Amino acid sequence: MTVKEFQNKFEPFVPPAIAWKGDNVGLQIGRGTDTIRAVLVALDATLYVAKEAVKKKTNLIITHHPLLFHPVQNLTSDTRVGEIAQFITEKKINLYSAHTNLDSVQWGVNFVLAKALGLTDVQILSPLKDSFTKIVVFVPKNFIETVATAMHNAGAGMFTKYDHCSFRGEGTGTFRGMNNARPFLGEVGKLERAEEIRLEMVCESWKIKDVLSAMRVAHPYEEIAYDVYPLMNENTEYGLGAIGNLPKAVSENNFLSLVKKKLKTPSLRYSAGKGARIKRVAVCGGSGSEYINDAIHQGADAMVTADLKYHTFQDVEHKILLVDAGHYETEHLVLGPLAMKIREILQQRKHSIPVFITETTTNPIRYY
Ligand SMILES: [Zn+2]
Repeated sequence: MTVKEFQNKFEPFVPPAIAWKGDNVGLQIGRGTDTIRAVLVALDATLYVAKEAVKKKTNLIITHHPLLFHPVQNLTSDTRVGEIAQFITEKKINLYSAHTNLDSVQWGVNFVLAKALGLTDVQILSPLKDSFTKIVVFVPKNFIETVATAMHNAGAGMFTKYDHCSFRGEGTGTFRGMNNARPFLGEVGKLERAEEIRLEMVCESWKIKDVLSAMRVAHPYEEIAYDVYPLMNENTEYGLGAIGNLPKAVSENNFLSLVKKKLKTPSLRYSAGKGARIKRVAVCGGSGSEYINDAIHQGADAMVTADLKYHTFQDVEHKILLVDAGHYETEHLVLGPLAMKIREILQQRKHSIPVFITETTTNPIRYY
């Protein structure tokens, strides 16, 4: 399987379109035409990870954090990023990153973190906004199933628990073909009336192109009447952070012990909580400070995240037990499910391509 073929199979599970604006996800270094020999999965592309890739004869490194993130001015060997990028290029390794798109899927960083803490009834903390589009198309009655099926097959009207979702309302369409028109129904120059169905479907905005192409191919009219509307509905299938419940309420101290143990972190920073038992818990792997208010509004007794500042702790004192459990510690657990997903994709074609999880700890932070 080539890198590009892998990308096409993998990205429906982590759509790049759901990544934060300004993020840099996808193939960062390499050639899509390279045949994958083996894959190494890591949180970060460090020089140690790149050397491990060489040792394990892998030519595709998949990381969570993008190596090339901020606008890159140069790739000289006297910068950390430049040195790593040069090494990876020289060794003909491909580097691919799934960053905030991996944070935003229900098998990704935040749901894995929630599961590690034993949370149940887990939902997205901050659902994705502005990602839905409605497509309305007017179809002659006897073509309705053909057009609807083509649009569904291209991804419209499809959600986690339901597919083939549409609305259909009957009505009358009018048209008059002029000059060189070749109308599917009726005659040129004559006002026609046709029994049509207004077919409505919602789809994620990154699927519109495919859905419209499929609709055009299936629709019999020369000029197709259709509308595309942006929607403001939240997309609860994707989004950042997660929130759920502990099976049993525990004391604040017991909760802190649980976090330390489950995330294998030697030290926690936290601010005073409500002074009550902890039952509802929000999580956001990595830097989640901007979702603390979502957690408070949704009744969380505690939130586990990382990269928190002094004043952030101060602002929420006694409102929520805010825990900084470390950036690496709240994210690295995703490497197992990520490797598993990659294996599933690579095995679809009976390729025996090994997928390794790095043995190198890429956490730059030490505890004393
Ligand atoms: Zn991170």
